[in-house]
Amino acid sequence: MFSYRHAFHAGNHADVLKHTVLLAMLKHLTEKEAPLTVVDTHAGAGLYRLDGDYASTSGEASEGVLRLFLQPNITQALVKASGVATETIAPALQDYLDLVRSFNTSGQVKVYPGSPFVVHQLLRAQDKLKLFELHPADSRALAGNIAQLEAGRQIAVLAEDGFEGLKKFIPPPARRALVLCDPSYEMKTDYARVLTLAADALKRFATGTYAVWYPVIPRPEAHDLPRRLKTIATKAGKGWLHATLAIKSGKPPLATDKVNSGEKAQRPGLTASGMFIVNPPFSLKPALAAALPQLVALLGQDSSARFSLESAG
Ligand code: SAM
Repeated sequence: MFSYRHAFHAGNHADVLKHTVLLAMLKHLTEKEAPLTVVDTHAGAGLYRLDGDYASTSGEASEGVLRLFLQPNITQALVKASGVATETIAPALQDYLDLVRSFNTSGQVKVYPGSPFVVHQLLRAQDKLKLFELHPADSRALAGNIAQLEAGRQIAVLAEDGFEGLKKFIPPPARRALVLCDPSYEMKTDYARVLTLAADALKRFATGTYAVWYPVIPRPEAHDLPRRLKTIATKAGKGWLHATLAIKSGKPPLATDKVNSGEKAQRPGLTASGMFIVNPPFSLKPALAAALPQLVALLGQDSSARFSLESAG
């Protein structure tokens, strides 16, 4: 049941998209003084070593965060990719780069902050963070990483099912909440559980901001997920935003494709992912409209690299 470990995937292109969006939403939501409750229903271990065994085995960060930091000069890379002479780094992307840099003060990027630590960066004294992680080893690692923050009762780590556990925390006392639902989709049932969570959460607390990450893969449940989330949001009379990022073609190589060594070409792995947000902050769309083309320019590997950004309400 639990073969998924986020440590293999930390800092990949999907994390870059998810954490850029998460930061941009938090920046907006923490502008108001009123307390905010953040719930991370699938929190992972919190912090990851990119030079550790897991990350080195998969090498996924090299197509994500490490590719961004390998650019000697991001502004120049953007100018080269776009042909526009005055390209500046989009604020949402700059915030993401600054966040990762703050965990790697020696210069080289060796530590990657997962969603709990992305959120913690913007948490104010009046805010609360609830973290669910069901994997026993990751839950222990998360509890250890969070303990170092000495945040006391401000941050709770729960080794429980996040789909069910969310119900305990909404509506929150100050009626302001951001929920990140980021399952591994290791089990096919996760897709249906995400939809149930969204519909149920909107009934319990209609004004919360709900963000769902999902993989763009050729599987009917994955394909239908954003469409069904749109229906749920629309029926509830709520606005939504849908953003996707693809870094390369997701088509499996042809049987005749060979790499130089004579071995068969590898399957491309996860090449695209999406974020679907119900009740997005109004500033999110312009922030992503500036950041997503830059992410395509910096992370894109072939002509299939692209983004999409749509919203309603
Ligand atoms: N949100 C993390 C981040 O951005 O850094 C990554 C989370 S990872 C994609 C999904 C996590 O959910 C895994 O660590 C997995 O062990 C955990 N998990 C799986 N099913 C769960 C459930 N029902 N409730 C809570 N956690 C679960």
